[in-house]
Amino acid sequence: MTEEELKQFKASLSITAVAKSLGLEVVRGKFRCFCPNRHVHGDRTPSVSISEERGYFRCWVCEDVRGDVISLVQKFKVCSFSEALSYLRETYPFLSPGGSPAAVATPSKAKNQVENLEEAPPETPVEGPVTEDERKKIILNFLKMLSPVDNTPAATWLVGRRIYKPVWDRMLLRTIDDYGKLNEMLKNTYDKEVLQYVGLFNEKGNLKFYKHPLIFPYLDPQRRAFYFQSRAIDSSVVPKEMNLRGTVPYPYNMSALDEKPGWVYLCEGVVDTLTFLGQKIEAVGIPGVRSFKVEWLPLFKNKNVVLCMDKDNAGREATAYLQDVFGNAGIRTIVLGEGMEHLKSSMKEGEDINDWFGGKH
Ligand SMILES: [Zn+2]
Repeated sequence: MTEEELKQFKASLSITAVAKSLGLEVVRGKFRCFCPNRHVHGDRTPSVSISEERGYFRCWVCEDVRGDVISLVQKFKVCSFSEALSYLRETYPFLSPGGSPAAVATPSKAKNQVENLEEAPPETPVEGPVTEDERKKIILNFLKMLSPVDNTPAATWLVGRRIYKPVWDRMLLRTIDDYGKLNEMLKNTYDKEVLQYVGLFNEKGNLKFYKHPLIFPYLDPQRRAFYFQSRAIDSSVVPKEMNLRGTVPYPYNMSALDEKPGWVYLCEGVVDTLTFLGQKIEAVGIPGVRSFKVEWLPLFKNKNVVLCMDKDNAGREATAYLQDVFGNAGIRTIVLGEGMEHLKSSMKEGEDINDWFGGKH
């Protein structure tokens, strides 16, 4: 596991869920200390607090009972870092890089396979040739150089998925319509090392996304984007999607998380999210369950969440996990289609949201 993968794995783990998996009784974010002999009445009133968002636990009496989700497992099982990591990967295979062997074997999983490019986190500005602010500006500027999808092969592909112009415009979908020209323009604007560092250029010194011309910017509430995913429109290309290097900063279409009371649909991937938006249903997307971050939970304030993972084994594992994580944070969830499996119109095994709404592949 690379450092970046480890960081993402830790970020996707709910420390409360892990504590419960170990058999600890967590009540209102607290559990009893591992060292009850140091406490009055054997720590009958739990002294260890959990910060779910920060992924941290801490005993208010014992100096040494504190740490992150991995140290929690280490302290509880009295084991090494790598043993704790193995335990977590076995307990949460669907969050683990590479996924569970069973899930990889499912054809619809391969369909959603996302390549995470490189491992160096952009959050370490000391090592990079540009600061974090400059990195963001370059991504912003790159997205400005792209064309709207109208009258391009990307548009044809989107229409095939029943995703139409109002949604393209709302989500500022973009495409690379002249790869050669854009490649030259970028080379003339920035140093090659900088372009490689921010994740736009490959090792050979050319623009990536040659086979992935459809670009989904991750807009923030000010409609700016410092992160995007790219998508192949030729069905023979593997992987179908590529992530910009570094971690996903927030869910796709985060402006749906406006703190107003209501429902929001949580889907796997941008295409499913766009499908819902086309139906005037408020939805947010995560590139995959492995990119969900527990620190995003506060964004879901005042929302009830409809979980809309793919209808396959990986999707079901993810659903059960997310129900637990949201539940621990006091956020109500329901599972899309649950209790309606007998209906003819319900999602079939192996389908995702776009398939269900009649998108063709
Ligand atoms: Zn203690």
